[in-house]
Amino acid sequence: MLFQNNLTFIEPPETFRGTLILESDDGRIGDYTHWLPLLKTKKQKSKWYPFRYGVSACTAVVTNFNGTSGYTTRTQLQALVDAGWEMMNHGMNHVGSLSYELIGSAKAGDVNIEVFLDSMGTAYDYIIRSNTTQNTEIIRPLTVNGKNIILTSPLKNDYEEGSFIELTPENLNTDINGSLDTLISWGFDVKHFVAPFHHVGPVSLAKIAERHLTARTTSVGDTNPLPITNKFRMNGALAGTFNDEKIKSFIDKIYTEDSVAIFYGHGELYGKGSTLDKLVDYAIEKNVRILTRNEAYLLKMV
Ligand SMILES: [Zn+2]
Repeated sequence: MLFQNNLTFIEPPETFRGTLILESDDGRIGDYTHWLPLLKTKKQKSKWYPFRYGVSACTAVVTNFNGTSGYTTRTQLQALVDAGWEMMNHGMNHVGSLSYELIGSAKAGDVNIEVFLDSMGTAYDYIIRSNTTQNTEIIRPLTVNGKNIILTSPLKNDYEEGSFIELTPENLNTDINGSLDTLISWGFDVKHFVAPFHHVGPVSLAKIAERHLTARTTSVGDTNPLPITNKFRMNGALAGTFNDEKIKSFIDKIYTEDSVAIFYGHGELYGKGSTLDKLVDYAIEKNVRILTRNEAYLLKMV
């Protein structure tokens, strides 16, 4: 509201509503080469803003991808942090961590199995467990091609359709907490999680909750209306689904609902005129706050 006082206009109170969090998954090189320089050109207008005036994003790092072709190095991640970015944990080897169900039955001697949902990896041991018999054993994928898995050694037992396959507790801990410890050893203050493929189950959610404050584990629906009932079931909106119309409706929705929303990409080579450029400009124009995940948490926006 603007009002006049002896010919001097008084600044209206700030009218921020809603929170936008920018996240980039996997720690790809584009975070450093494209997102960072683009976001450095942006300024938020808020005066009460307690952390900074610029616009920063979050990188969800897969620690074993770090420094490999197409991914950021530790030095580049440090440059992001120096610019106000937040580092998040995205696991050590980028595998899903739910219970996978066996498609079809498998017999002793088989090396080929098929699972429902395609996010297993070759880095870890898994336990396969029958639902109807006492049969269980440790298996290790040799190759993973989507839902089709070839094992390093033949099954010892028979398993019916729907038998469960999940990471061993030790390997689940390694993937979630091993990567967290690695990021901490690199000097980063990491408090939040992004689940690879958004594939989680009750066991992995409990493991994530041990040492993280929030987790993005779903991309069903755009925004997170407040209050958030489960901080480990935060929703994200995938960058690839945005066009000019959606940029507007998304930001308008955040503002109208006074909700918190996560826009997430994968180190896209964004520049002037890109989705990220337009999204951030429109959020600033609408007075939607742009915060990192931990800033939103500290401000009780999450
Ligand atoms: Zn990912």
